[in-house]
Amino acid sequence: MKATDKLDLDPADWDAFRAVGHQALDAMIDHLRSLRERPVWREAPDEVRAAFRAPLPDAPRELGDVVADIDRLIRPYVTGNPHPLFMGWVHGAGTPAGMIAEMIAAGLNANCGGRNHIGLEVERQVTRWVAQSLGLPASSSGLFVTGSSMANFIALLVARTRLLGPSVRQSGLQAVPQRLTAYASAEAHQCIGQAMELAGLGSDQLRLIATDDRRAMRPDALAQAIETDIAAGWTPFLVVATAGTVNTGALDPIAAIADVAAARALWLHVDGAIGAVASLSTELRPLLGGIERADSVALDFHKWMHVPYDAGFVIVRDAKLHLQTFSSEAVYLSRADAGLARRDVWPCDLGPDLSRGFRALKTWVTLQTFGAERLGACMARCCDVARHLAERLEASGLFTVHAPVTLNIVCFGVRAADADTVNPRLVEALHVSGEAAPSLTYLDGRPVIRAAIVNHRTTRADMDDFVAALRRHLPHRG
Ligand SMILES: *Cc1c(COP(=O)(O)O)cnc(C)c1O
Repeated sequence: MKATDKLDLDPADWDAFRAVGHQALDAMIDHLRSLRERPVWREAPDEVRAAFRAPLPDAPRELGDVVADIDRLIRPYVTGNPHPLFMGWVHGAGTPAGMIAEMIAAGLNANCGGRNHIGLEVERQVTRWVAQSLGLPASSSGLFVTGSSMANFIALLVARTRLLGPSVRQSGLQAVPQRLTAYASAEAHQCIGQAMELAGLGSDQLRLIATDDRRAMRPDALAQAIETDIAAGWTPFLVVATAGTVNTGALDPIAAIADVAAARALWLHVDGAIGAVASLSTELRPLLGGIERADSVALDFHKWMHVPYDAGFVIVRDAKLHLQTFSSEAVYLSRADAGLARRDVWPCDLGPDLSRGFRALKTWVTLQTFGAERLGACMARCCDVARHLAERLEASGLFTVHAPVTLNIVCFGVRAADADTVNPRLVEALHVSGEAAPSLTYLDGRPVIRAAIVNHRTTRADMDDFVAALRRHLPHRG
């Protein structure tokens, strides 16, 4: 049969397809099993990049050949975050179980924007689990999104609805006399400022509050900023506490911040992109004290809980406000008394996405397969590994740690007068060598090396290897 004769997209030969499918799965299982045998990262050579400048393919090819191209052209050159010595930014490592869940989700191809199907029930189950682990009411409203950038934005819009009412959706901010201000620490993620921009409030109206010597928000400075703004005619509406800052892993004192927010009836949102899932760890949970008082929390399952990308989540205490911020009456989404369109709150009523994949499945599978205790224990181990790294660096005499290690992030640099030039070069050299992948950040304007121990595979012994690699790549003195 000519390929052009076949007018559906199913395999012409299911048995041949099965063989290719099993091979592809086996190749990925081998890939995950042998992570340590390969470099953390490799630059894609020019001839590999050139393969992606081919014209739009008209004719079909065998799936097996396409999969072979993936093995040759793609698999060796991705980011490398599953590798135990990948410590850059804050990347989740994934799990083999999560991979299976993704494959099954792709096969089911459920659209979790709405309709009466079990996928929505899975998402509601995860919402109740999140509520339980954070100490929020079971009636809280939750939504899977791409990541915490989107989750923080959604929470900000719900907070805006609380202050201005749902009619602001139609009237816009031009119709509103109040001039709104929000508050986050100077160490908050840039997506909070971006959320202010996207909401039309302007990032200038996000007040960046001073931090203490642990780089956590100072509640006294927060209270002061709020009172100063009120006196000047501004209308504060939102306080964002960060549970695990991206730069150093600092934890804002949520309970004290909740007191300040409550005194002025402000919305308390927690950006828990990194740290909120630490509520699964009995050891780490006390560090999040006060998170149960949040009006909303953003978190990422794809970071420290290793659900395959992407799996961000927002939870809102007041389900009605969440719904009022996004629900619409579009005729093509109207609900019925029974059947596939049975009357219910659909995820598309809770955020800007209509069509959306089955992110809940891989999250549910991760929680089912490992259980909260083991996932939490992996996070606690990361913190131990981070402390070990900090000790080893200090003990080496060659490096010094530049910020307190509160959670799982170590910021450090060489102990030398030319640290500002050496630190960036060292990060680059390690990346190019493929031996380890920390990242670079700036503390108080100066470049430092940053190792975020997120990976469930990373051990103390890996940190010993990492310190050895750092020493090997130090520029020769003389
Ligand atoms: C990663 C991160 C974000 C953004 O989350 P994405 O999932 O990348 O969109 C927000 N806040 C903090 C503290 C983060 O670490």
